[in-house]
Amino acid sequence: MPETSETELIALTHSLKRHLQRRQRAGIGRLAQGAPAGAKTAQGSREPLPDGSMEGLFAASAPGLQAGTLEELRAAIGDCQRCKLCAGRTQIVFGVGNPRARLMFVGEGPGRDEDLQGEPFVGRAGQLLTDIITKGIGIKREDVYICNVVKCRPPDNRNPEPDEVAACEPFLQKQIELVRPKIIVALGKFAVQALLRSNAPISKLRGNWHTYQGIKLMPTFHPAYLLRNPADKKLVWEDIKKVIKEL
Ligand code: URA
Repeated sequence: MPETSETELIALTHSLKRHLQRRQRAGIGRLAQGAPAGAKTAQGSREPLPDGSMEGLFAASAPGLQAGTLEELRAAIGDCQRCKLCAGRTQIVFGVGNPRARLMFVGEGPGRDEDLQGEPFVGRAGQLLTDIITKGIGIKREDVYICNVVKCRPPDNRNPEPDEVAACEPFLQKQIELVRPKIIVALGKFAVQALLRSNAPISKLRGNWHTYQGIKLMPTFHPAYLLRNPADKKLVWEDIKKVIKEL
């Protein structure tokens, strides 16, 4: 077996740490615990792995460690079965846009239109986001990068569950690492919680600059929320004006 370099060991240690943090956030307990009786497993029809096995760890982390481009990352995700959302999706909605974008938008997860078309933010909320980008910021949609916390549609557009967010998070982290934008706009509670590890309400966080891995991050309301609460569009415009100033 080839010797493991110090760099690889450090990367593995970070990977293990992130994995354990994700498990903790997902409410998964000790490493040796088995899956509860009758629990649906992320591996679909395959036999459940003993929870926390090394295969589970590296299945989630390996693409995060190895992919050098977005294409490689997408290929590494493959026909993902890492969480239960795989059962109801039409296709994985990976992300779209300029791989070297200065501005990146992170949403929650695909809805019905996105699931059918394979592209994030193409439904009604997506049209509003496109307007924010093109009419508000004054750039083309193709010039930014857009993706979601979870890459598969939650059934009936329910909120993504903690284990689903935990399973998908390494891919979001790697997307951000690969695009390395100047600014991230986190759209709504789930994107903000996933990236900032904060349970504070979005109404408190929005409008103020935060940092994710050295990248400036602006939380703002999700476009779907704005469709239900159009009066708050002016607050999002305030947030977007701060983004424009920084770009
Ligand atoms: N809402 C999201 O969070 N993401 C999409 O891609 C579409 C709607």
